[in-house]
Amino acid sequence: MTDVLIIGCGVTGAAAAMELSRYKLSVTVLERENDVSLGSTRANSAIIHAGYDPKPGTLMARLNVRGNELTRKLCADLDVPCRQCGSLVLAFSDKDEATLRELLDRGEKNGVPGLEILSGDEVRRREPNLAGTVTAALWAPTAAVCSPWELCLAMAETAVKNGADLRLDTAVTGLERTGDRWLVHTNTGDFEARYVLNAAGVDADTVHDMAAPHDFDIRPSRGEYYLLDKSEGGRVNTVVFQCPSERGKGVLVSPTVHGNLIVGPNAEPSPRHDTSTTAEGLDFVKETAKLSVPNIDFSQSIRNFAGVRANSGRDDFVIGFAAPGFLDLAAICSPGLTSAAAIGEYAAELLQKDGLTLEKKDTFLYGRKRTRFKELSDADHAALVARDPAFGRVICRCETVTEGEILECLRAPIPPRSVDGVKRRVNAGMGRCQGGFCGPRVVELLSRELKLSPEEIPQDRVGSRILLGETKEVAEHV
Ligand SMILES: Cc1cc2nc3c(=O)[nH]c(=O)nc-3n(C[C@H](O)[C@H](O)[C@H](O)COP(=O)(O)OP(=O)(O)OC[C@H]3O[C@@H](n4cnc5c(N)ncnc54)[C@H](O)[C@@H]3O)c2cc1C
Repeated sequence: MTDVLIIGCGVTGAAAAMELSRYKLSVTVLERENDVSLGSTRANSAIIHAGYDPKPGTLMARLNVRGNELTRKLCADLDVPCRQCGSLVLAFSDKDEATLRELLDRGEKNGVPGLEILSGDEVRRREPNLAGTVTAALWAPTAAVCSPWELCLAMAETAVKNGADLRLDTAVTGLERTGDRWLVHTNTGDFEARYVLNAAGVDADTVHDMAAPHDFDIRPSRGEYYLLDKSEGGRVNTVVFQCPSERGKGVLVSPTVHGNLIVGPNAEPSPRHDTSTTAEGLDFVKETAKLSVPNIDFSQSIRNFAGVRANSGRDDFVIGFAAPGFLDLAAICSPGLTSAAAIGEYAAELLQKDGLTLEKKDTFLYGRKRTRFKELSDADHAALVARDPAFGRVICRCETVTEGEILECLRAPIPPRSVDGVKRRVNAGMGRCQGGFCGPRVVELLSRELKLSPEEIPQDRVGSRILLGETKEVAEHV
């Protein structure tokens, strides 16, 4: 039997697992996908929000502000790309300026440091590409951009290094209370646990209903994006929002931590797992973004994608015990990425209040470093290649990612099993050609290292096959 079993390994489940792995407890994490971070965590705006948006007094407000502080530190400690570039909310009218004053007031009540309202001229001095129609802006210096999937992976790896048992490809299908424990049914067998944490993202209502009377509905809302080439990465220096509405934080224009420009999202009701993009959605994103930054060159777009938010219709996260030993970490919509580390901390606090003993391990392993070849000096390149010639073979030309880095991630606590799994870990395939050149070489490497045939290497999720084995048959016919 495990002390705590966590359902879902997005950023929420990973943060809870990392936090609990500090203590003398057994922790199990069940994730139905073949990798961590395949839900909302992989497709979002990647902003570490300052915390002026949530209503004062909500759990969301408290966890957002605490999460902002924790996450910036965590990223530094765990070698996760993160840049504190600050954010602006733009006003175009008197009505918008009233909204800025309301956000400033909320932010001050929430304890957000450094907020300031800037004039239109001042904000254009800082961001010369902003529209001439901008009349004022709210400046939040603690906002940051990060790599969301690397944050999730880094926390999950830390949990695994400290003894957590992560089971991928394991979908929870039912929950049964037997005496003082939970029997957790999955597609790979049953697990027993004293406590179950529900971190199932857009499926958190389904998992909740397995354990407790129906209480909330997840109302999924899809957001679509443009990702632009690095040639557009300097169009703005900070995260540029428009005023939020009841539909969300609105369309933003932001540098990414990898040097690209991200533009989006819209907000449309959608089926739970529908991450398709639409011409109408993307047109809306493009036209709305141009109101903030008119000269974005959308011909430099290298990818469109969409993510699905786990909204619930409540103005807050749904966090709390729903049944004995069953804790919901649910409806973790935006700013869930920012709040995850604080949610993990809060989950541990709630478990302790419920009677779980939290005794710190003396052996907690914290800290993480990965080789980033392209960021090293020539002397460091030479030393690295002399130590291991695999660092001398460049696999991804756009992002200058070497074979050595890919082999390194295959030896990490949570190795990738797919081409996109490699991309999320080392950036191979993230550049202008989006894997056109390096994709086949990554398949070759995965096949060699995982001792699988190339046909068995998926692009991403289980079943997303790249090679179907027909090449050989055609060759034989010829
Ligand atoms: C368009 C968009 C923009 C956003 N922008 C931001 C932003 O800029 N800043 C910010 O702070 N937040 C943002 N968010 C919110 C943030 O992405 C989410 O709050 C966060 O990723 C939620 O993480 P999670 O772990 O709760 O859920 P997920 O990442 O969805 O993880 C849930 C996991 O549970 C697994 N699972 C589900 N059911 C089962 C089961 N039965 N058995 C086993 N596993 C299961 C899933 O496979 C999944 O991996 C945005 C979200 C979206 C969609």
